[in-house]
Amino acid sequence: MKDNKKESIDKLVRAQRTYFRSGVTRSYDFRMKALNNLSKLIRNNEAKILHALKTDLNKSEAEAYTTEIGFLLEEIRHTQKHLKKWMVPKKVKTAKTHIGSKGYTIAEPYGVTLIIAPWNYPFQLQLAPLIGAIAAGNTAILKPSELTPQTSKLLDELIKEYYHPDFIAVVEGGVETNQILLDQPLDYIFFTGSVPVGKIVMEAASKRLIPITLELGGKSPCIVDETADLKLAAKRIAFGKFTNAGQTCIAPDYIYLHKNIRQPFIDTFKEVIKEFYGENPLQNEEFGKIVNDRHFNRLKSYLSEGEILFGGRYDETSEKIEPTLIAPSDTSSPVMSDEIFGPIFPVMEYESIDEVIEFVVERPKPLALYLFTINKKVEEKVVNNISFGGGSINDTLMHIATPYLPFGGVGESGIGSYHGESSFVAFSHNKSVLNQTNKFDFSFRYPNAKYGLKII
Ligand code: NAD
Repeated sequence: MKDNKKESIDKLVRAQRTYFRSGVTRSYDFRMKALNNLSKLIRNNEAKILHALKTDLNKSEAEAYTTEIGFLLEEIRHTQKHLKKWMVPKKVKTAKTHIGSKGYTIAEPYGVTLIIAPWNYPFQLQLAPLIGAIAAGNTAILKPSELTPQTSKLLDELIKEYYHPDFIAVVEGGVETNQILLDQPLDYIFFTGSVPVGKIVMEAASKRLIPITLELGGKSPCIVDETADLKLAAKRIAFGKFTNAGQTCIAPDYIYLHKNIRQPFIDTFKEVIKEFYGENPLQNEEFGKIVNDRHFNRLKSYLSEGEILFGGRYDETSEKIEPTLIAPSDTSSPVMSDEIFGPIFPVMEYESIDEVIEFVVERPKPLALYLFTINKKVEEKVVNNISFGGGSINDTLMHIATPYLPFGGVGESGIGSYHGESSFVAFSHNKSVLNQTNKFDFSFRYPNAKYGLKII
């Protein structure tokens, strides 16, 4: 079985390499057509996509549309609008030492690329990097998560229907399949997933020195100071924390509240949760489920690690956990050291912003950071003293949704970035070319030569 899979993957990589070397993927027209095709694939199959996401994750239509389908269509539109400009070779200045020559850079495609996706936004996180791969002129092998089987199967069917496998193909499977894929002579790997698997991917890539992008996770802090608009902050934070039942890589992981607004914020936050999800979120059809038993049980275990301030109920059958606020009893317990990735929200209190900065910089660099304040000094202090992938001031999640901001982590939360032009850059090698003049020559560069300039 394993041998069969390996054989078929070896064959696929060879076929994609031959196709890439034929040069067809490089032209502007080819890239634009392939992007049109992706747009059609999504628009013509919306109902099927929504159904797969509902089955795998109980995603509501509205949420699935904004965070998966709409997001991709906008990213394709933006890429098509700017692609011509991004593809133009860029002239660079000539240094005095290089007088007479011309320098330029060309964005060249890497070749055969592999895109590995996680389960939490299984459609969007598989296809958003693909937009960059196509735009940059590569071929691509997609590996969806085995934890969202309906979406994985649908992706396989749709990609087969809309693309030739020598150009784009899906390989379904779990860890074993990934190991076979990571052992291939690929030209580029784009991985989205957890920190531990990110390390495995980087190790595998290092054996062949394959360039990579790692979009990983971690604990993203959310800070609310005493100048924040509490009602607005509560709404925007609840949106960021409970979308997809908290299973979002950039969801606020824990919240730090200034002591003067701690209680009023918590009261407002409880009201907002009721407004959004009703008195019983476990019965609310629109509220997401936890992806599987393992994650459900992991999340349940956090509920005993502190005082429950709100929520705390769960339903074993539907694998749902209601929005929960918890005051952790110990900052070294798993709820404060693991990435939560669920609707449980630890609440911390601070007096001086320096305490928060110290707490955050002592830990791995977060993927996202959120700060609610109208105090410019606090904003500058936080932004300039904490290293994080990206973030929003007075909002959550929204920085990911604009194609003009590169999206990615730093340190343990990832390497490299994408979205918009950054995706094109991520999937391109920036090749430098110096075009030297033949009109004259500096003889002093040669051994044993007399100093001088020879006009040819
Ligand atoms: P994961 O790392 O378990 O799995 C991701 C992919 O890796 C899957 O396709 C899976 O099949 C494969 N995989 C799993 N174990 C492997 C192994 N031992 N060897 C080789 N491949 C393996 O991640 P997940 O649970 O699917 O997703 C959740 C994680 O992803 C969270 O940490 C989250 O923060 C992160 N994430 C990051 C982003 C981002 O954009 N930075 C987005 C979404 C999720």
